[in-house]
Amino acid sequence: MQTKSIQAVMIGFIAFLILVIGVLGVRVYKQQQFKQALIDQNNPLITDETLETDELIEETTESSESEENETSLTQIDLYAAFVNVHLEHDSISTVKTLWEDLENLVTLADEYDVKLTLHFSVGWAEYAIANEEILTQVRSWESNGHELGMHHHGLSHGTWDGYSNNEIAKKRPTYVGTMDELAEIMNQLPTSGQMLSSSMTDEETDWVEGFLYQTVNEGSGTSPTADDMISTPETITLNGQETTNIGKMGYAIDHLEVQLTLKDIQSKIENAETGQILGIVFNDDTLKNHLDEAEGLFQLFQELEINVMTASNILETYTY
Ligand SMILES: [Zn+2]
Repeated sequence: MQTKSIQAVMIGFIAFLILVIGVLGVRVYKQQQFKQALIDQNNPLITDETLETDELIEETTESSESEENETSLTQIDLYAAFVNVHLEHDSISTVKTLWEDLENLVTLADEYDVKLTLHFSVGWAEYAIANEEILTQVRSWESNGHELGMHHHGLSHGTWDGYSNNEIAKKRPTYVGTMDELAEIMNQLPTSGQMLSSSMTDEETDWVEGFLYQTVNEGSGTSPTADDMISTPETITLNGQETTNIGKMGYAIDHLEVQLTLKDIQSKIENAETGQILGIVFNDDTLKNHLDEAEGLFQLFQELEINVMTASNILETYTY
C-alpha cells in the first residue's frame, strides 16, 4: 500500500515535470519565433543577442507609438505669435458699452496664457485715463504681461481720429492736434510712460518718436490677405524714426474681404519657417460678436504649443 502511494507520488511528480518542461519548451520556441519575425522585419532597434523578448515587445510598442506621433504632430518652426487688438476710433458711449467685452477678452486670454497686444485709439485711452479704477485695471493687465500700445487712424482713413502731422489735416474742421499731442495722451496709459508699439495709417507722416515697433498688413483697410499674417521683422525708417515692422491679418472681424478659418491659421503655422512670426488682429467686432471664435484660436495655440507673446516682447527678444 505504502509502495503504491510512493509510486503514485513519483508518477505524479514526473508528470508534473513533463508538463513544466513542455510549457517552457513551447514558450522558448514562441519567443524564438517572435524574435526571428522581428529581425526579419529589419527593425534597427533589435539585435538578437542584446534584447530579451519582453524588451523587444516594449521597444516595438514604443517605436510604433512614436511613429504615430510623428504623423499626427507636425514640426513647428514658428518663432512666436502675437494677438493685436485694435480698439477702434469710437465715441465715448461705445467705449463704455464695449469695456466689459474687453474685460472678457482679457480674462479669456489669461485662461490660455495668451499675452495680448492692446492698441488703444484715443477715445479708449482718454476713457481709461479719466477713470482711476479703469486706469488701475488697465495697468494691472500690463503688469500681467499684456502690452498697452497705440491705434491711430490718420487723415486717409474713413474714420480719422483728428490727430495728424499732415499740413493739410491742420486746415480741416475736425483736426484736433499733432501726433506729439496724441502721444502725450497715449503715454499716460503705460506705467513706464512710453508705449512701444503702434498700428496706424499714414505712418509716413504720423509715426511718433519713442515708438519702436509697428504691426502692419500690406492690404489696405478691408483687404489684407492670409499671407500678411506670417512675417519676419523688417527695420525701416518712418518719419525719420527707425522702426521695426511685423505682419498681421484680421480674424473674426466681419467687414474683412478675406475671412480666415482656424484651418488657414493652422496651415500657416505649420508651414512657417524658422524665425517667422504669426500676427493676428482682433477689433471691436471680435470683442462684441466673436468671443467664442477668439477662444477657438486660443485653443488652437494651446494645442500647437505656440508661444503667444506681445509684439514688443517678440521683437525685444528676437534673435534671428
Ligand atoms: Zn482701426
